[in-house]
Parts: sequence; structure tokens; C-alpha cells
Amino acid sequence: MDFRSQFLVEPGRDLKLSTIDPGYHGPHNDESAAEADLEAYKDKISKLQRTLYGDRSKALLIVLQGIDGAGKDGTCWHVISAMDPQGVQVTGFKQPTPEEQAHDFLWRVHPHAPAKGEVAVFNRSQYEDVLVVRVHDLVPKSVWEPRYDIINEWERLLVEQNATTIVKFFLYISKEEQLERFKRRLDDPARQWKISNSDYTERERWDEYIGAFEAALSKCSTKHAPWYVIPSNHKWFRNLAVSQIIADTLADMHPHWPKPTVNLDEIRCLYHGAAQTAATPAGE
Ligand code: AMP
Ligand code: MG
Repeated sequence: MDFRSQFLVEPGRDLKLSTIDPGYHGPHNDESAAEADLEAYKDKISKLQRTLYGDRSKALLIVLQGIDGAGKDGTCWHVISAMDPQGVQVTGFKQPTPEEQAHDFLWRVHPHAPAKGEVAVFNRSQYEDVLVVRVHDLVPKSVWEPRYDIINEWERLLVEQNATTIVKFFLYISKEEQLERFKRRLDDPARQWKISNSDYTERERWDEYIGAFEAALSKCSTKHAPWYVIPSNHKWFRNLAVSQIIADTLADMHPHWPKPTVNLDEIRCLYHGAAQTAATPAGE
């Protein structure tokens, strides 16, 4: 099953989320059936990311978006748990500070774009400025509307000028699943802190959010920075699909271990007696 082709938002296509089932879970029936595949993808990610870090010639940007409760935090944790933390930077984008608000919307985002050798994970992203901002009319339409093209161009800049590969995931849950998750949070001391009144008030704007997501996914899935819609009602399936897509994306980046910067033979000879050993016939 190739989730990249299955969940890709075809560039130029007008996406309707109602055509996608957020409860879809692929060929596996449950978490335990998917476990072996998941481990294999995590191994692959782990090896490739360590090579990317050594290679230092290419960068990977992973964008996570989704409605409240869709599992952005959990996916973030899951994705980076397979990676060497030295080569990964996670950034969560919250409400802009007054200083951020006094700048253009990409000002706060650009410094977190990945350096060569790094993986950057965005938990929310530049897309908030065409999502929550659009839903709440935080700026006039004449300001947010041109942002789709601006974002596409900015992403192209990262791709063309800094050897960045970009993958963007929209974690898609149903409205019922969101309410279930909010309810479970109420009863879980480890998650109660995550509950905010806005979770419930934003829920009333569900349809507006869906409209804003559809616009962002349709206008900003490009060849150079594709969007994938991940059915996310089942957390284990979401992790499986995201892992496979990241593993395949990393593989297509073909990271290579860099060549050694020292003369290995000389070091073997000088410090490990390798030349003498090789020169001395066995038995003498
Ligand atoms: P959370 O991800 O649950 O910690 O919440 C972060 C909050 O910041 C969400 O309510 C987002 O909608 C909000 N947020 C993030 N970026 C922006 C932005 N550019 N403008 C307004 N609100 C934002
Ligand atoms: Mg939240």
C-alpha cells in the first residue's frame, strides 16, 4: 500500500474533504496487526535521518496541521521518537506575540526552516495565517487571500535555494471523534491541562474551518511541497501512514554518508599498527 499516492492532494485539484473517510484504516484491522510495519518504517526513518544528519547537504521540513484534537502533538512525538534528536527541531506556532504581529506573517516562521542536515517539524505553521486568521477575520480578506501564493513561493524558495524537501500532513478527524477526544481529555489528568474553552467555541465553527482547510489544501498542494490528507480517527493508522510517507520521502532524498575527511590508511597505520600486521606474514 503506497500511502503517498493514496493520500496526496493532487496539485491543482479542488479538494472536498467530504470525499475522504477520516475513519479509514487501510489493510490492517487494528494496532497490533500494524505493529510490525510501523516498526519497519521507524527503523527506516531512523537510519535515513542519521545519514541525512551526517550528509548535511539536504533538509527536510514536515508540516503538521489539523483541527483541535486531531493529534498534532501525538504525531510530532511519534515522528521524532524515531530520530536522533540532534538533527531535529520541533517548533509549535502559537498565537503571535505583539512583536511577531508587528511583522509580516512569515517573519516568525523563516528562522525555524531546517538547516541542511536537519529535519524541522512544524506543529502548526505558516498555514495558521490562512486558517484561524481567515475563520476569525483577524485581517481583511484582501490581506489573507494573497497569502496562498506567497506561501507557495516561500516554500519554493526553501526547496530551490536550500535543498529542502517539504511534506505537509493534514490530520483529518471527524467532528464526532473530536468531541470524543475532548471528553476523554476531561477524564485524563495527563491531558486536562490541554483543554481550553476555545476548543469548544472553535468547534462551533467546524464548517468554516473545513472550508479554510479545503482552500489551503487545494491551493497549496504543489509538486514541490505536497499536502497529504491523513485519515486520523485511528491514532495507530495515522502514525503508520505518516511514518511510511516520511520514510519513503527520506529514501527519495538519497542521503549519503559523507566521505571521511582524513586519510584512513594513514591513521590505521599510525595508531592501530594495521600496516605492520598486514606486512607481517602469519606465524612469524
Ligand atoms: P495549541 O496548538 O493547542 O497550543 O494552540 C495554539 C493556538 O494558537 C491555537 O488556538 C491557534 O489557532 C493559535 N495560533 C497559531 N498561530 C496563529 C496565528 N498566526 N494567528 C492567530 N492564532 C494563531
Ligand atoms: Mg489546542
